[in-house]
Amino acid sequence: MSYIGRFAPSPSGPLHLGSLVAALGSYFQAKSNDGKWLVRIEDLDPPREIPGADSLILKALEAFGLQWDGSVMYQSKRHDAYQAQIDTWLKSGQAYYCQCTRKQIKASGGYYLGTCRDKQIKDSKDCSVRLQVTHYVESFSDLKHGEITIPAPLVNEDFIIKRRDGLFAYNLAVVMDDIEQGITEIVRGADLIEPTGRQISLYKTLNQEPVSYLHLPLVIDSSGNKLSKQNHAKAINTTEPKADLINAMQILGFKLNNDLQEASIEELITWGCKQWGLKQLPKSIEVTS
Ligand code: GLU
Repeated sequence: MSYIGRFAPSPSGPLHLGSLVAALGSYFQAKSNDGKWLVRIEDLDPPREIPGADSLILKALEAFGLQWDGSVMYQSKRHDAYQAQIDTWLKSGQAYYCQCTRKQIKASGGYYLGTCRDKQIKDSKDCSVRLQVTHYVESFSDLKHGEITIPAPLVNEDFIIKRRDGLFAYNLAVVMDDIEQGITEIVRGADLIEPTGRQISLYKTLNQEPVSYLHLPLVIDSSGNKLSKQNHAKAINTTEPKADLINAMQILGFKLNNDLQEASIEELITWGCKQWGLKQLPKSIEVTS
């Protein structure tokens, strides 16, 4: 089977150092496996998006020498597919409407305990849709971090596939799209270790072969916060990309000797594809920028 990897940014702002690390890591892993590297814009949550961020992200990838294969997929164009799957599950009873608010769930200990599972709610108004979990995933194997255990209360929690506000849930969209795009391995930031169990459970519910996972170091700032578009992490410099590229490559464990400091962006990327190996990645899940 040939390798297909991907980078799947949400257009909630321009790329920052943390997302550049995820883009580069997934690119190096795909290219060193003679694979394809696809890009998918995860524009699933309009209130959190910034108009034009998608094209800024794509331009940034080009400035850093990361050329994707094929055309870019947009989640905003996939609503019919997500809804059709939800309808199928609602019809078969695998999914159900849930009235519980976040506040109620918090009050009952922070986890959803199946309160609405047998209520047979027919009216979707002010309801989320939950998937009745039938495949319990207690752990998974990460290519870098080995066996990762899923926190027990999450294992059998019926999770949301469509939110009360009508937006499709990330876990459903990401798994349906990874399947649609034929992705064979998922390489992304370690902040997404937590939902991986649910995503594997979704693969099983959809009768799909599982994929492999590699979670890359998460870049945090000096006060320990994850760099994210929400907390306004500094955008990477796309006009003078070299310094950010070198910084991101060092976070990924590359040892860049002095003559590489003179190399062009393209030369650095080509060199990176040749040198890349999972052993070089730092052991810790978090790396300070
Ligand atoms: N869209 C997600 C993000 O930007 C990444 C999803 C994924 O790689 O699975 O954090």
